[in-house]
Amino acid sequence: MTTELLGLTPEELQTELSPLGEKPFRAKQIFSWLQRGMRFSEMSNLPLALREKLASLYVDQPVEILERHVSQMDGTVKLLYALRDQNCVEGVVMRYHYGVTLCLSTQVGCAMGCAFCASTLDGCVRSLTAAEMLGQVMCADRMLAESGERVSHIVLMGSGEPLQNYDNVVRFLRLVSHPEGKNIGLRHISLSTCGLPAQIRRLADEGLPVTLSLSLHAPNDRIRQRLMPVAKRYTIEETLDACRYYLKKIGRRIILEYALIDKVNADQAHALELARLLRGMQCHVNLIPLNTVRERNLFGVTEGQVTSFLNTLTAQHISATRRREMGDDIQGACGQLRQKHLKEQTT
Ligand code: SF4
Repeated sequence: MTTELLGLTPEELQTELSPLGEKPFRAKQIFSWLQRGMRFSEMSNLPLALREKLASLYVDQPVEILERHVSQMDGTVKLLYALRDQNCVEGVVMRYHYGVTLCLSTQVGCAMGCAFCASTLDGCVRSLTAAEMLGQVMCADRMLAESGERVSHIVLMGSGEPLQNYDNVVRFLRLVSHPEGKNIGLRHISLSTCGLPAQIRRLADEGLPVTLSLSLHAPNDRIRQRLMPVAKRYTIEETLDACRYYLKKIGRRIILEYALIDKVNADQAHALELARLLRGMQCHVNLIPLNTVRERNLFGVTEGQVTSFLNTLTAQHISATRRREMGDDIQGACGQLRQKHLKEQTT
């Protein structure tokens, strides 16, 4: 496969380009252009012959925007990106008072099989390269430049299990926070995982201060096993132990995602059980009212149920909030846009 220069550090770029007989400063120039989302043809301070040579040997920007869906309610934009091999992934651009957050994908599809998630319906097609993850940031930034904005925060919460694509994700984190590149602070990045204990510990040992977000979704193993196949491999206790290790090493509280599902995990008793489970842990619970998934017999909850669950946790001194709904009129569950695109291609 042709090398994607966007996925290389300045030093690696220099090594890659040295057989072409280019001076070291060229690698710096090219790194800077690539990290601004530019194509070889736009690198105006390079000789034309070099631009043409690069274009014949390498890939510059490996991702393009295929579809944009803008919410009329709050300006949230749902994006469908095209990759070079005809695969596509989704992303969401969300506007907050503190900046613009990009939700990006780390794999095409996902192998983890969570019952409430459309991203996993066809399994995992393949993992994304670091350049493809960066490419999503470049595309979003090019779009945002039209309104004088830029991506300031990133959540790795689109399709895919980031820790199953460990090396590429870590490379991405180092590149996107590179001072001569996008320079997005690692403290502005969250990584969401369904809970792979060994990889959580490994990430903690990297010493990258990203926020770890665990998809918990249940107060006990029995309910979690019904919703998430990964729970058959690792108990909640093993997973939370790895989270505590992460907390100790990185010093950032853990975010626990909890989708409220009627008659499954949203009763008062579940809230109390969850509070007992989390007592003493430095964490924050993010409550997500589920969009009903009829195919799987999973139903959303009422406003009253959300408030009562939240109040119970708060009364038990567990930090919790309800996740703000963004772009309700355009998105539906994560993974649905890609599913729709795939269906349109086959009909
Ligand atoms: S919720 Fe995340 S880990 Fe689970 S299937 Fe969906 S993308 Fe994969």
